Amino acid sequence: MEEFERFEPEGPGAAAALAAWMRRLGLGDWATVTYVVTLEGRLRVSERFCEHVACAQGRDVLAAGELSLVVDKGRAEVESVTNQSTGYCPEPRCFGAVAAALEAAGLEAPEGFEHAFVFRRCEACGGISIVKEGVFECAECGASLPQAWNFG
Ligand SMILES: [Zn+2]
Repeated sequence: MEEFERFEPEGPGAAAALAAWMRRLGLGDWATVTYVVTLEGRLRVSERFCEHVACAQGRDVLAAGELSLVVDKGRAEVESVTNQSTGYCPEPRCFGAVAAALEAAGLEAPEGFEHAFVFRRCEACGGISIVKEGVFECAECGASLPQAWNFG
């Protein structure tokens, strides 16, 4: 497995430290990165192509997805956030944990997920499906998907 750096911004200088981390990795002033919220409620980021499970070092998480960051005057700001993670398939209601973790890291949270994905595992073919427009049907095999989250 390729090794990616993990970074946990925290404290009063977090926004500046996050901007410096982006610069050091050569991500520029606008970047989408992988994030997880650890069980301790802390925000942790890695480069976009890092698997969420690697970012979380294989542990359970409160939330996971992608975070779009922009740097303004040497400080990183959150432009948007999603729960897009096929590693954890978190439910949209994990936004509360994301907002709390961003706030704890000194970053302003948006109003909600830019895209709130609903994932289900297909019990017929085993694939991971994204529920589109409220239709609980597997994109691979057409079987019905369960209403309840099934990645526990
Ligand atoms: Zn299926």
